[in-house]
Amino acid sequence: MSELGAVILVVEDEPQMRKFIRASLTSHGYRVLEAERASEAVMMLTSHNPEMVLLDLGLPDGDGIDLTKQLREWSRVPIIVLSARGREDDKVAALDAGADDYLTKPFGVNELLARMRVALRHAQSRGADPSVQTFEFGELKIDLVRREVFRGEEELHLTPTEYKLLVLFAQNAGKVLTHRQILKEVWGPAYAAQTHYVRVHMAELRKKVEVDPSHPKLLVTEPGVGYRLRDRV
Ligand code: CA
Repeated sequence: MSELGAVILVVEDEPQMRKFIRASLTSHGYRVLEAERASEAVMMLTSHNPEMVLLDLGLPDGDGIDLTKQLREWSRVPIIVLSARGREDDKVAALDAGADDYLTKPFGVNELLARMRVALRHAQSRGADPSVQTFEFGELKIDLVRREVFRGEEELHLTPTEYKLLVLFAQNAGKVLTHRQILKEVWGPAYAAQTHYVRVHMAELRKKVEVDPSHPKLLVTEPGVGYRLRDRV
């Protein structure tokens, strides 16, 4: 894949964490830039134009959420936030500010690489690709032209809202979506606070698309944050 040799900017003030990320990424063919402070990160972004940013939320001269907001005014570079366990509100704020995904510390190399591949892929195919007519995830098949959904041979009958939800997740496969992002896309900006809509309709959608709705394998919950369609079922 073209991600090989991609330049990744790591913004992190903990030397041990930087060292771990640098070692993991360079051994997989990425090139790594490092910044310890938010101000340094902005300079490196403008001077080196990296293909992705891994961003710690707690920096000595500012917080990663503000930095994300600032970057999104002029850059669409994929941002993966690195966050401490238990800081779900921070993750949600960062995602709503425009970050693409998050990793909870401590994380493993494989998880890091998988999230990076998803974010890089989405960055390359930004926006809905008009040539895409079907999505397939394991047994599940979505036909966008006929607006039909199948699990194996069986056609699933979704309500218009469930269908919109499912297509939104399919278009963002592998990527976490916050409640707010889902509400804005499916119901519209005026509904951004109606979190219970998402819960209710996700439960109905899971009953139809999941083999075992009480143990979802496809539409998984990201506790305190939102949902993600797992693209490798
Ligand atoms: Ca930190």
